[in-house]
Amino acid sequence: MTIARVGIVGAGQMGNGIAHVFAAAGYDVLMTDISADALETAVKLIDRNLERQVKKEQITEADKSEAMRRIATTQTLTDLGRTDLIIEAATEREKIKTAIFEELVPHLKPDTILTSNTSSISITRLASRTDRPEKFMGFHFMNPVPIMQLVELIRGIATDEATFKACHGVVERLGKTSATAEDFPAFIVNRILMPMINEAIYTLYEGVGSVQSIDTSLKLGANHPMGPLALADFIGLDTCLAIMNVLHDGLADTKYRPCPLLTKYVEAGWLGRKTQRGFYDYRGDEPVPTR
Ligand code: NAD
Repeated sequence: MTIARVGIVGAGQMGNGIAHVFAAAGYDVLMTDISADALETAVKLIDRNLERQVKKEQITEADKSEAMRRIATTQTLTDLGRTDLIIEAATEREKIKTAIFEELVPHLKPDTILTSNTSSISITRLASRTDRPEKFMGFHFMNPVPIMQLVELIRGIATDEATFKACHGVVERLGKTSATAEDFPAFIVNRILMPMINEAIYTLYEGVGSVQSIDTSLKLGANHPMGPLALADFIGLDTCLAIMNVLHDGLADTKYRPCPLLTKYVEAGWLGRKTQRGFYDYRGDEPVPTR
């Protein structure tokens, strides 16, 4: 399978990072979003992040221009039909993802590989809503994509070996490292990470510690580069809640129940960095805890 053109659905935090690394590795990228603003912001961000790499002398000015030239955007989802590999990175809601795949399928080439960057939703179930479960798999990047080394590769029950090998080869060409996970709720990274973040939110909810003391404790006491609440803001509190719900529903164990405080922040629209407020307020020069 030759993969030269890559389609990306969703130009949010993950979509723009994924577009960045694919274009920098020489793939032609077509990115789509329902929001014109999201597409515009994504292209500006990619430009800024590539510029940062030029300044650090990781790439040349010519590499940057070449990468930017390889990125195109469209608001018409079905334009992605002519690509060889599609990575869906839209909002973490199964209904949204299923609707995207159902709209795309009639427009795809027979050999196009479909993948999802979902953090937690069943790959087998998403695949079953397409015409090609054997050419469908999970392609899970970490945030921020240009910096994080890992890509989790998740086979659905029907994923064939050729599809797995093709995606594995793509990860190598991107200069990243893959880890293979079985298709169970939240795979490996988030099965372990999210309950820790949720527990940190319970610790705040129960008054065991303040935002600052919880984050300082895990940074200095467990040598984590970032505290769990700052990390939750970075990931997006809506995404954290969606993953906890998938764990809770999928594994039917009360140990995965989302903290009511997490639900409250999401209901308030305080989703973390992307909305400027979450466990911290990012509107000033320095982040300040919101409680
Ligand atoms: P985000 O909220 O930043 O971006 C989601 C984007 O999807 C938005 O721009 C939205 O307009 C777009 N969108 C919504 N419905 C759409 C549709 N029907 N068609 C096209 N675009 C649509 O979210 P994100 O953090 O980029 O997460 C995207 C996916 O990546 C989710 O599945 C999430 O679980 C996964 N993921 C997130 C992280 C993280 O740390 N945030 C890490 C790994 C994987």
